[in-house]
Amino acid sequence: MFRRLKRTRLKAPMRELVRETRLHKQDFIYPLFVIEGQNVKNEIPSMPDVFQLSVDNILKECEELLNLGIYHILLFGLPSHKDSCGSEALSDKSIIPQAIKAIKKHFPQMIITLDLCFCEYTDHGHCGILDKNLNSVDNDATLEILGQQALVLASCGGDMIAPSAMMDGMVSTIRTYLDKGGFSHIPIMSYSTKFASGYYGPFRDVANSAPSFGDRNSYQQDSANRREAILESLTDEAEGADILMVKPALAYLDIVRDIRDRTLLPLAVYNVSGEYAMLKHAQKANLIDYERVLFETLTGFKRAGADIIISYHTKEIAKLL
Ligand SMILES: [Zn+2]
Repeated sequence: MFRRLKRTRLKAPMRELVRETRLHKQDFIYPLFVIEGQNVKNEIPSMPDVFQLSVDNILKECEELLNLGIYHILLFGLPSHKDSCGSEALSDKSIIPQAIKAIKKHFPQMIITLDLCFCEYTDHGHCGILDKNLNSVDNDATLEILGQQALVLASCGGDMIAPSAMMDGMVSTIRTYLDKGGFSHIPIMSYSTKFASGYYGPFRDVANSAPSFGDRNSYQQDSANRREAILESLTDEAEGADILMVKPALAYLDIVRDIRDRTLLPLAVYNVSGEYAMLKHAQKANLIDYERVLFETLTGFKRAGADIIISYHTKEIAKLL
């Protein structure tokens, strides 16, 4: 007698019956990049089918997403004005507030999550106010502007705040600002374990957010540290995060599982630009069975323990599901 595991693999309906992990459209959040201007649609060479879009084109995109059954978007702003403290991020007239108001006017059913960071708004490209003595960001000064930015975005109609700056104390600070401002109902999806990663390369082309000097190693998580990566997410849970996140996804599935086993909160992964670009360019070069590899990759995220997948593949997968 021995165990015959193949019995339930013989026929497709039997395999479907015992399948443990499934992808659903409802698992996905689609990132969008909003740029100033009219009728702008700039394709990003490193990320095929990903565009910088002006607000009018963002609306067309929202219509297409809703027709596909996708309700969740994550907005990134590409302001034309940048300065050392990212002051444009605190204006309720800047590009993201404009986009939120336009989307909510035309498509109130769309759920808008807002990336909260300063790297797209600062002329130096770092994620907050600089501390020249440390040659890094000034954590506590940055907390205050993150709180203010959250309040601006919530008051413009944003549905969820997603802080990505990896500042210590950012979740509790933003929670305090939102609660005091009358937005205790707005959830925070924290980029709770965000690694300093080479996989962000293509994103920085899209978001014009590469640091002009140095790197982000002094505030993002070291990719070699497992215990610290878990602690990062548990700390954000203790500070009041509603959803945790691991970013990037593909090289960090062990961390996804580690955090899944230690929290009862929903857990997201960010399937980042470099992961997307690798698959897309491998498809273009005819190196892989693209759809098969796509499903295998995304299913791997859920199998590792993710509930939510933030991905540039969202539209493609919605068409395939
Ligand atoms: Zn940033």
